[in-house]
Amino acid sequence: MEPRLDGEDALDTGTTLTVVGCSGSVPGPDSACSCYLVEADGFRLLLDLGTGAVGPMQRYVAGPDVDSVFVTHAHGDHCHDVWELVYLRARAGTAGRLPVYGPPDVAEKYPDRAEAEKYLALDPVPDKIGPWRVRTAVAEHALENWAVRLDDRLCYTGDTAPCAAVDELASGCRVLLAEAAGFDADRPAYHLTAGDAGRLAARAGVQLLVLTHLRAWHDAAALLAEASAECACPVVLATPGLRVAC
Ligand SMILES: [Zn+2]
Repeated sequence: MEPRLDGEDALDTGTTLTVVGCSGSVPGPDSACSCYLVEADGFRLLLDLGTGAVGPMQRYVAGPDVDSVFVTHAHGDHCHDVWELVYLRARAGTAGRLPVYGPPDVAEKYPDRAEAEKYLALDPVPDKIGPWRVRTAVAEHALENWAVRLDDRLCYTGDTAPCAAVDELASGCRVLLAEAAGFDADRPAYHLTAGDAGRLAARAGVQLLVLTHLRAWHDAAALLAEASAECACPVVLATPGLRVAC
């Protein structure tokens, strides 16, 4: 399959990834924190819902129409706006709880646990979410981070240092959505550098690498160059509104 980017015809090829927010750690001037809408067969799954993401999310999906959320870990730049989405859905009179999958400590983030449980269903990850077979891997991060793979289409790292579990999860997937939280020359703890993301893409044999978790104080073009030097596949920077057929 030839990966296609940003084409309207991407919508009818199966699974579509839309970048809602891609800023790492804190929102940037042009992007909310991590949030990725994945759609197929009318099912709408959000991967992460970080700080500020519920705002731009509504450009792509109305709050009551979100079918499920998968949260990689309990850092705010990946889960803060789950609470905002719950509130939005409650105000809209949305019936039923929102299935939110993720490590157990995600539930502890919410200030009013009793209120949250009216709406959130923090369940074990099932074999399938919507139309996709789901696999997860416990990555290496400061908190428990679950990298996730949907069919053979998309693998999302969340936040992780390079590790065998994520290597195995990503192997053979078409599209790799990987964080690029810094540079090889100034390596941040518990994160992938852009170079790490490129090397992971090469080992996994993916067809497209999308770099995300882009921090506002980093030179994005330099991140792209560092990752591109490590793999033969195309590499693109996540940007809000980017659509990728997976
Ligand atoms: Zn994190």
